[in-house]
Amino acid sequence: MTVKNMVSRALLAALFTMVVVGCSGDDEEGGMVASEQSKVLNREKTGSSAYDLLSAETYSKIVLEFIYVEGYEPAAQSVENLKSFIEARMHKPGGIVIEERWIDSPGLSEYSVNDVFELEKEERMRYSDKEEGEITVFAFFADQASDKNEGNKVTLGAAYLNTSFVIYESTIREVSGRAGTSGRISMESTVLQHEFGHLLGLVDLGTPMQEDHLDEENGHHCDNEDCLMYYQAESGGGISGLINGGSIPQLHAQCLADLRANGGK
Ligand SMILES: [Zn+2]
Ligand SMILES: [Zn+2]
Repeated sequence: MTVKNMVSRALLAALFTMVVVGCSGDDEEGGMVASEQSKVLNREKTGSSAYDLLSAETYSKIVLEFIYVEGYEPAAQSVENLKSFIEARMHKPGGIVIEERWIDSPGLSEYSVNDVFELEKEERMRYSDKEEGEITVFAFFADQASDKNEGNKVTLGAAYLNTSFVIYESTIREVSGRAGTSGRISMESTVLQHEFGHLLGLVDLGTPMQEDHLDEENGHHCDNEDCLMYYQAESGGGISGLINGGSIPQLHAQCLADLRANGGK
């Protein structure tokens, strides 16, 4: 299978998940030179790098590259919360590095997963490197909504490749700004950690289930209503019910057991 086919298949899978859920760059001069070979490592389907993310066997260090449209950066506390989540679940003794930078708005009125992937190809500078023992994750914080939104069924985030996800930051700000909803930081932290959970192979998405807890109707999600991986964590209609009193939902026992059995902690 060619790389191109692999990517389009992986993207199709991401689109499919979202529907069910309802929810050759130029090398930088003097910067990191990403060969075509190393880009291949970051163009696999969602969940397929779960073991590499969880364990330290091949990669002891993780670099997160966050690209946001100017003015749509995540709150510093949300990024800190994600870092704590990674520290708690993944073996990365070589360190966790988070790099953030902004770009001008691409000027789109909404984003398909394909639009985000095109943008990733332009903007992503960090690619996984086995020799360096460094795995990289890319996230884009969008200034416009998902093209999948319909009425009050809005998507807050989506993991679309093995080390790539998008956060619909403008939608999170809109939804969290409404009366009776949880604040922006708890909502943003929940969506960030939920999408990261998909990269870690949850649920039944590259990390085998130790016991059955798959919510089959809602794709690769957990059937426990209080769990971080419950499907409503990434959809605007239901997320507030999941964030009780502003606290970020945790992974419940069966999700944790899956991660531990696949190299995590
Ligand atoms: Zn999800
Ligand atoms: Zn769970």
